[in-house]
Formats: sequence, structure tokens, C-alpha cells
Amino acid sequence: MIFMKELTGQMIQERQNAKLLSAQYARFGISEAVVRFGEETLASLTERFRQIDETAEYNQLKVTAAMQECRVSEACLLGTTGYGYNDLGRDTLEQVYAALFHTEDALVRPQITCGTHALALALMSNLRPGDELLSPVGKPYDTLEEVIGIRPSKGSLKEYGISYRQVDLLPDGSFDYDGIRAAIQEKTKLVTIQRSKGYQTRPTLSVTRIGELIRFIKDIRPDIICMVDNCYGEFVETIEPTDVGADMVVGSLIKNPGGGLAPIGGYIAGRKECVENAAFRLTSPGLGKEVGASLGVLSSFYQGLFLAPTVTASALKGAIFAASLYEKIGFRVLPNGQESRHDIIQAVTFGSPEGVIAFCQGIQAAASVDSFVTPEPWDMPGYDAKVIMAAGAFVSGSSIELSADGPIKPPYAVYFQGGLTFPHAKLGILKTLQNLIDNGLVTDDFHKI
Ligand SMILES: *Cc1c(COP(=O)(O)O)cnc(C)c1O
Repeated sequence: MIFMKELTGQMIQERQNAKLLSAQYARFGISEAVVRFGEETLASLTERFRQIDETAEYNQLKVTAAMQECRVSEACLLGTTGYGYNDLGRDTLEQVYAALFHTEDALVRPQITCGTHALALALMSNLRPGDELLSPVGKPYDTLEEVIGIRPSKGSLKEYGISYRQVDLLPDGSFDYDGIRAAIQEKTKLVTIQRSKGYQTRPTLSVTRIGELIRFIKDIRPDIICMVDNCYGEFVETIEPTDVGADMVVGSLIKNPGGGLAPIGGYIAGRKECVENAAFRLTSPGLGKEVGASLGVLSSFYQGLFLAPTVTASALKGAIFAASLYEKIGFRVLPNGQESRHDIIQAVTFGSPEGVIAFCQGIQAAASVDSFVTPEPWDMPGYDAKVIMAAGAFVSGSSIELSADGPIKPPYAVYFQGGLTFPHAKLGILKTLQNLIDNGLVTDDFHKI
């Protein structure tokens, strides 16, 4: 009897809590029905979330061990000014990155302004006139088109006499091994492999698959530099591309490894010679890594890296939640709610500009910063169609924070990512759904119109 009473008491408590929670969601204009639909969706994700927590635990230990082994001290958190000679914090952080990625060296700098810059730097410093760059995984990320010269641009690799060749993935998403073998020429110097799908609807590559591709390339020509664009992929798995043979990994600190705290920055980790080339290009031949004051950003670089495994986990949970929710409603989602994940990006195809806009405006309305502004499609530098971006972020434009963007062109897919905490990601996704319902794009019994 006593047991029964307690159970009833607990049930009453739970119902009360659910009511209080619904009242909080109501402050964002989210209906009780949407909240309930979200709860039903979440109930099926317990096992997935447990696996994500396991990966985060592993990676948390990996990061902490690397910091300990490199003897990170309080003095490392301070910064330098001016030339930045003997910047202990900067040099130690680069050792931490090298330890984490199991590479000979790393370049981790606030002077690398974003992911595109890091990638451009890695390419321009390791390629020379007459060399050829090969992408064996199809078209690279939009902003790299101008770096390479696929779309003409001042200062592109093409202008410097560096040619480019591309082998697309086969229709089923697998590597076109025959095509790749045929594309490898004497002048092929560097192969660029993009881990994440970016603005495309191809699958993201797992680290294992990247390893298979690298092995194939190295079997043909071991001297080809294999570079991986690691943007959005860091800490999603327990291994990184440098664990499977990549000579260089490149990424942005305003994404996963910055943990939401880094206010700027990019990294290149890899073979000593590759990193040295990049350093000589970033600063100056001869100066390389020796200069480059860290100013005041190091403590956020360190703390962001420390938080990165769990922040990445939160973003992953948000992505899976979004996939499961929108899949149930009838939209095409990539990856789907069940697939294993290799980056934090979730694509949802709405098939109309209105769907993309309503989704992005929902994400913006859930932000902590700039929630009251309404994002509109605009001509963003580096992209060939209008893009709508939602990012009410503490770090401007940060896409490890709750954010969504979509080019206004067929198939009208939105790319959702981030969420420094899962509750915030959940809020954002529920708000997008409410927005789609309010705009007549989803019925109020949760069916695609
Ligand atoms: C974001 C991204 C980039 C470019 O990084 P920015 O910081 O936006 O310049 C390059 N490649 C991939 C796969 C990305 O996701």
C-alpha cells in the first residue's frame, strides 16, 4: 500500500513537472502538443544518446590526458602581445593538439580567421605552381571553390598555376576507385578529403572510410599528401582522420574544437613538414611558428577544447532529435534518425524556400542573443546562391552554437547544427516545428503538407 501511495505521489509530481515545463515552452510560443510530440520522439532515442555519452566520455579523457601530458599550467592561460616570441600558452596548446590528433606538430592560431582560411592556408602552403590538387570525394565545400579557382577568384590556386581535378562519388555514395586511380597523375601533389557533407546531400564520411580511401591512394603513390577537411567532425567519433593515415587535418575553432568558447581561430595538425609550410605561409618564410601573439584568447582556446567533447555530444543529440522528429512528419532527412553519425550536421529537405525560411526563423527565435531579429536570405560572400542563416550566437556566426543555414536553391534543404547544450538544441527544434505549423507548412497533427 505504501509503495502504491509513493508511486502515485511520484506520478503526480511528474505530471506537475511536465506542466511547469510546458509553461516554460509556452513562453516561446510552443504549444503543449508540440512539446508532447517532442517527448514521444525523445523516448525512442535513449540508447542512441547513451552511445553518444560514451563517446563524449572517451574523448573527455583523451583531451584531459593530452593537457596533462603537455603540462598545461596556469601560466599557459595568459597571452602575449607584439611579436609573441616564446608564447608558452600558444606553443603548449599546439603540443596539446598534436598529442590529441597523434601528429608530429600543429598550428593553432587566432590569426587563422576561420575554417576556409585554415583550409586555404594548408593548400596554398603545401602546393607549388605546376602541382595538382585532387578531390576524390566530389565537389568541396562552397567557399573552397574560390580558393581553388573552380569559380574564378583573385589569388586562387588556379591563378598560381595549381590545377585541380575532381572525382565524384558514385551514385550510391561509394568511392569511384577506378576514377581515382585514373585521376592520379605525376603532378598530383595533394589530395583533399572532406569529412562532412557540407552543403550537399551526400553521406558524411566515417573516419574508417576515410582511412580506406587514404590507404588506396598511398598504395598508388605514398608521397601524395592526404589532407582532411575535418570541419564539424572533431570528437564525433573516438578516432580522428590522422589516426587512419591522414597527413594533415584542418578545421575551425568556431566549430567543434572551440567548444563554443573560442572567439576565433583555426587549426592545422599533421606532419612536421606540412605544418611548417603552413606556418611559413601564415606569418612569413623564416619566421613560421615563432611569431604570432596569442593576445587574450588562450584561456578560451583551452577551456573550449576541454568542453568540446560534451558540446559536440549535445550538438549530436540535437541533430538526431531533429532527424527523428522531421522524419516522423514526413520530410526527407539526411542522415536519417537511425544512421550512425560522423559529423554534427543535420540536413532536412523542405522542397520549398518557405520551409527553409520558416525553419531558420524558428532557430533564430530560440536564440539567447538576437532572438528578436528575423533572418532573411542574402548574398553571402563565397556562396553562389542566396543563403539564409540563423545564428543568435555568443560568438558571431558560430555554428557550434544553435544555428541553421540553407542556400535558397533546390532541393531547398536546411542544414541544422550545434547547440552548446542539448536542452537548448531541443528548444530550437521544437520552435522550428511550431513555426512550420504556424506558417501552414505542417498540419497540427504533425504531417507534412
Ligand atoms: C564550415 C566549413 C568550412 C569553412 O569554414 P568557415 O569557418 O565557415 O570558413 C569548410 N569545410 C567544411 C566541411 C565546413 O563545414
